Amino acid sequence: MEHIAERCRVTSGDDTWRIEDGGVRFFLFCGSEKALLIDTGMNAPDARQIAESLTDLPLLLINTHADPDHISGNGAFERFYMSSSEEDNYRAHGGKGELIPVREGDVIDLGGRSLQVIDIPGHTPGSIALLDAKNRILVSGDSVQDGNIFMFGSRRNMELYIESLRHLALYEGQFDEIYPMHGSFPVSPDLIGRLLDGAGQIRDGLVQGSPVSLHGNDICLYKFPYAGFLCDPAGNDPAASNGSASPDDPAGFNDPVHA
Ligand SMILES: [Zn+2]
Repeated sequence: MEHIAERCRVTSGDDTWRIEDGGVRFFLFCGSEKALLIDTGMNAPDARQIAESLTDLPLLLINTHADPDHISGNGAFERFYMSSSEEDNYRAHGGKGELIPVREGDVIDLGGRSLQVIDIPGHTPGSIALLDAKNRILVSGDSVQDGNIFMFGSRRNMELYIESLRHLALYEGQFDEIYPMHGSFPVSPDLIGRLLDGAGQIRDGLVQGSPVSLHGNDICLYKFPYAGFLCDPAGNDPAASNGSASPDDPAGFNDPVHA
């Protein structure tokens, strides 16, 4: 485990901390009365200790979503804020504790600094972004970043993702920087429009991806100059087994035939 000081960077003033955790990062935002930890990383069961070494303020936790690389230190918290649409994903990954639901328009007041919740489902069912309007920062989770955005598997939804990017674009005049959990830090607000364009091209079948294998999954990478999308192979309905017979269905009876 790296020393805490090497993992934490002051991002603006001394009230905004970025904690680098290998390929993922999380943040600590402090107000005058409370501090808010935003995600708990992938290899950071000590996320709470890290936060408490940086501030004496009472500490709250919120998760942008519940994929395993964002919740590794949640176990140290009895309760946390999260979209209720994300609870299945959280419990499926062994997440414990009491979920305090947040949704679009909710505001978490830290004292002289508030974070507004924006629902952006698609990457996961209950993904959220957080707007720090005073400091003109948007925390985007995994949904807006310049790495590879995971869009394969059962809980992803490209159509909803596109709608969410459009929704996020409505707030564009309110932030100058985006803080993503992966990829470059920070990124510029105009990335939202680029991702919207790329996601639309994928949905409409206008671009071709390359087959890649990730953790034993055969998936498809659509690489754009500004980011990538990892998707189910074209034409593959994740609910179907792609034409091959499975042990539970030896005859392949349940495989729908697509004309
Ligand atoms: Zn992630």
